[in-house]
Amino acid sequence: MRLKESFCHTRQVLAANNIDNTPLEGELLLRQTLKINRVQFYQNLEQQITPKQQDILQELLERRLKGEPAAYISGYREFYGLDFYVNNDVLIPRPETEHLVDETLSLAQKQRMPLIADIGTGCGIIAISLALNLPRAKIYATDISAPALKIARFNCYKHGVVDRIKPLNGDLLEPLPEPVDFIVSNLPYVRQSELDTRGFEPVLALDGGVDGLEKIRRLCHQVNGKLLPGGYLLLEIGQGQREAVTTLLDSLFPTADIDVKPDLIGIDRIVSMVLPQ
Ligand code: GLN
Repeated sequence: MRLKESFCHTRQVLAANNIDNTPLEGELLLRQTLKINRVQFYQNLEQQITPKQQDILQELLERRLKGEPAAYISGYREFYGLDFYVNNDVLIPRPETEHLVDETLSLAQKQRMPLIADIGTGCGIIAISLALNLPRAKIYATDISAPALKIARFNCYKHGVVDRIKPLNGDLLEPLPEPVDFIVSNLPYVRQSELDTRGFEPVLALDGGVDGLEKIRRLCHQVNGKLLPGGYLLLEIGQGQREAVTTLLDSLFPTADIDVKPDLIGIDRIVSMVLPQ
C-alpha cells in the first residue's frame, strides 16, 4: 500500500469513529508511524508502506480510537508556532492560551528587562513562548506537579531557554523568591461537575473546584507583595467567570485597572490587572 492510500484509509477509519479533523489526525498518526515531518509526509505520498509500518500504524490507530489524544500519541503539540513535548503528566496546550501570550507580549515588549512569573506552567508553553519573544526577560515557571515541571524543563532545553527560565516546584506564588513585573497564569478553571474524569489529561491540571474558581481565587489572594508597583496580573479564565474574577480583583485591589479581552469566538478569556505605580 502507498502512503496516500494508507492516509485515505486512516481518515475513513477515524471519520467512521466520529473523530473530527481527519486530515490532521490521520497525518499525525502516519507521521508518527514513519517518523517523518510534515514536509516529508507531503513529499512522499507515493512511497510504499511496509507491513511492519502498517502494524505500527494499526497500534497507534487503536490507541486513538480508545480516546487517547493525538498529542499524547505523537508526544508533541504545536503552540505559538513552536513544538512542545507533552505526555499525560501535563495538559495539552489549547489554542485559546495563545491570547494570553499575545496580551502579555504586547505589554512586556514595552519594558527593558521584564521579570515574569508563569504560574502553573505545565509543559512550559507560556514561559517558553514569552522567553523566545522577549530576549531580555527573566522568567520563573512554577508548578505544584513535579512530573509536569520535568516536562517544562525538557521543553526549555529543547528551545534553548534554560538560562532564562527558572522552574520552581510549589503551590501558586509561594515558591517565588521575589516580586515580579508580570504574573501570568492559565490555572485549572473547569467546574468539578464539568470535569471529564475518564479522560487522559491530568485532572489536577483542569480541576478548578466546585465553581471552577478555587485556584484562581487563591492566586488572587496571594498576589499582594508578589507584584511590583505598576506590575501586571494576566489570567486566562473560563466561560462565565468574568464577573466573579473582576469583582474579586476589584475588592482586593481597588486602585488597580482591570480589563477583559475575548478569545476568537467571543468568550471573555483574558483578565488583566495593572497595579498603580
Ligand atoms: N480551556 C481548557 C478546557 O476547556 C481548560 C484549561 C484550564 O482549566 N485552564 O479544556
